[in-house]
Amino acid sequence: MAKDKIENASIAWPLERLTRLMRSGEHEGGLNPAQWEALRYLSRANRFSNSPIALTRFLGSTKGTISQTIKALERKGFIAKSPRQDEGRSICLALTEKGIEILKYDPLAELSKSLDDLGGKTRRRLAKGLADLLETDLKRREQPSFGICSSCRHFREKAHEDRADPHSCMLFDVGLSQAESLQICVEHG
Ligand code: SF4
Repeated sequence: MAKDKIENASIAWPLERLTRLMRSGEHEGGLNPAQWEALRYLSRANRFSNSPIALTRFLGSTKGTISQTIKALERKGFIAKSPRQDEGRSICLALTEKGIEILKYDPLAELSKSLDDLGGKTRRRLAKGLADLLETDLKRREQPSFGICSSCRHFREKAHEDRADPHSCMLFDVGLSQAESLQICVEHG
């Protein structure tokens, strides 16, 4: 096998094994892996991205599968639907108190224990390498980045310093709070 193929495999195989280990804990709390992913997404998504369509794009799933996931989470009391302001049939999805509470027991946090055991330098390099890999792969597959608002080309930091929402989004032409600047967005670019 060529050297670069061996190197690539030495990254892809541990990633596959880690993914399987992480998924193995995701049948806790009466939820399945897709439902955990949806809850995590809604805990991070901004107000332009808390819709079934954005969730479908983020998970790269089908409309039917996401619809089942949403129904199950709603039935279990982890999320609630509400009409989107000024947008007829469109709806918003939000975590309920119960949904926020269950995320404190997210099985993904198990990985944090192992990450804590790595040195700070290794953790930083790993974070950078994985972020670069994800960005490259998303671009190659022409998938939306769903990045953090403050890293978007439409974001203007402290555009209105005197306001409670000091930052600005040039795409939606709205103010953004500090908390919103750290959320993820379906229109991130
Ligand atoms: S600045 Fe970018 S990421 Fe933030 S809300 Fe606007 S489009 Fe979304």
